[in-house]
Amino acid sequence: MAYLTQPDYVKYVCSCGQLKPITNLYFCRHCLQIRCAFCICHEVDSHYCANCLENMPSSEARLKKNRCSSCFDCPSCFHTLSTRATLAQPRQSTEQGSGDTKVENKQPKKMYYLSCFNCRWTSRDVGIPDQPVASGGWPERANPYATRVNQLLDYYKAIAQQEKQEKLDRERKKFAIRGKYITLTDKTGLTGAMARNIAGLPSSESSSSAIASFTPSQASEEVEELPEEFYTKELNLNQITSMPQRLASPEWQPTHVSRLHPIAKLLSVKRSQRCRVCDHNLTKPEYNPGSIKFKIELLAFYHVPEVKIISYEPIKPGCTSALLLKLTNPTGHEMQIRLMQPEDIPEPEERVDEPKSIEKSLEKSLNLEKDTSWYETVKRKPILLTECRITIPDVTLTLAQRDDAAEYDDDATHDANDIILWRKSNKLALRLQVVTSGEAQAGAAAGAVLALQYRYRNAVPPAAQPPRDHTLHAALRLHLGPVCG
Ligand SMILES: [Zn+2]
Ligand SMILES: [Zn+2]
Ligand SMILES: [Zn+2]
Ligand SMILES: [Zn+2]
Repeated sequence: MAYLTQPDYVKYVCSCGQLKPITNLYFCRHCLQIRCAFCICHEVDSHYCANCLENMPSSEARLKKNRCSSCFDCPSCFHTLSTRATLAQPRQSTEQGSGDTKVENKQPKKMYYLSCFNCRWTSRDVGIPDQPVASGGWPERANPYATRVNQLLDYYKAIAQQEKQEKLDRERKKFAIRGKYITLTDKTGLTGAMARNIAGLPSSESSSSAIASFTPSQASEEVEELPEEFYTKELNLNQITSMPQRLASPEWQPTHVSRLHPIAKLLSVKRSQRCRVCDHNLTKPEYNPGSIKFKIELLAFYHVPEVKIISYEPIKPGCTSALLLKLTNPTGHEMQIRLMQPEDIPEPEERVDEPKSIEKSLEKSLNLEKDTSWYETVKRKPILLTECRITIPDVTLTLAQRDDAAEYDDDATHDANDIILWRKSNKLALRLQVVTSGEAQAGAAAGAVLALQYRYRNAVPPAAQPPRDHTLHAALRLHLGPVCG
C-alpha cells in the first residue's frame, strides 16, 4: 500500500465541489473554506528568467516578448545553451602593392560561441559569428512578418478599446439614469479623454483610425505548386528539422537544420493566488526570484486535518472490512475531531453579499483592465454516493498540536481502545469498519466517503479581534482499490 504520498487515494471535497488531494488545496483563513486552483484567482507577480534569475516588471517583460535577452535554448534539443570561449588567432593581413608581406603580431583574442552540452549543437554550426563579449550581442534575426503582426496587434487593440469604451458609456448612462451618480467629470473637471488617459487608453480617435486603415487578409484558392525538387531530390532526414523544432520558433519555422537559430529563453512567472470570494491572498511568493519561500502560504496541508490510509482489508460485496486510517493535526493548536457521514454536515449559512457601493462600481468602470466577469465559479456536486459505508464511531478525538521535535520519537502509545490503535504526538491511528453493500460490482472501484468535524483556531484573526475557535467540516473520499469478487 502506498503510504507516504497518497494523492489518488484520499481526496478532499473543495468548497466548489472538486475532489482534490490535500496537497493541491488551499485554505482561506478569512472565509474558513477549502479552495482549489480551480476556484481561486491566479495573478502574475513577477517575471524572471529561470536560468540567470534576472527579474523584471511585467511592462519590460512584455516589451521583450516574455523572453530573456541573455539566455538561449538549444534550437535542436531545447536544452539551455552554454557560452564557451575560444582563443581566436588574429588574421594575417597581407598588404599588396608594396610587394612585401607584413605580418601583424597580435595577441590571440577571446571569442565566444554558444554550445549545447546535451546534443553538441553550436552556434558555429549555422554560421553565427563568434562574439567578442560573453553576454549578449547575439545577432537577432528579424521576423519577416513583423509589419503584418504589428498591424494585426494594433487592429485588435483598437477593437478591444472600442468595446471597452462602449461598455464604459453604457455604465455611465446607467448611473446617470439612476440619478445617484455624481459624475467625476463635473466634480473634478476631469474630461472623458483624461479619464481614458488615467485608465491607460489611447484616445478614441486613434483607435477608430486604426480600424479604418486595416486591410483584412484574403483567402485564396490558388496555392503555389511545390518546387520540382520535392519530387526528384532524395531526402536527407538529418538535414530536415522536426516539427517541434520548427514550431519552437514560429516566426521562421525553419525547415532546414542549417537555418536553426538559438531560441531566447522564455521567462517564468511567480504567481500569487487570491481567494475569489474575499479577495485575500492565499499564497504570495517572495519577490526575489532566487527565493523559494512565500510571504503568505495558506495551504490546506497546514490547516486541515490530514487523513491517510494505513491499510484495509479487501473490499467484498456484502462484507465488512477493517480500515486503518491515520489522522494528523497540522496546526499549532490542540484539535478536536469528530467523524461524521458527509450527509450530516450542516448546510452552510448563506452569506448575503453586501450591495456594491457606487464608489466601488465607479472604480470598477474606470479600472477597465480588470474584467471580473469570470470570477464566478461553476460549482459542481461531487459524487459521494458509494457502495461502501464507513461505520462512524461516536467519539470525539483530541489531537495534540504539531510538535516538530516529536518527529524524532520512536515510541507510540498504544491505547487499549477499539477505535484508536495508537497515538503519537499530533497523530493517531483509527480502526474503522467498512460495510460494503451486496450490490457492489466486482472489479469496480471501491470508494468510501467520510466527513470530519474539527475545531479550528484562527490564530491570525481579522484586525482587533482575539483568536477565535471555529467548528469546520471537511468531506473526503477514500479510494479503497477494486471490489474483490
Ligand atoms: Zn475549488
Ligand atoms: Zn536569462
Ligand atoms: Zn541541444
Ligand atoms: Zn476567502
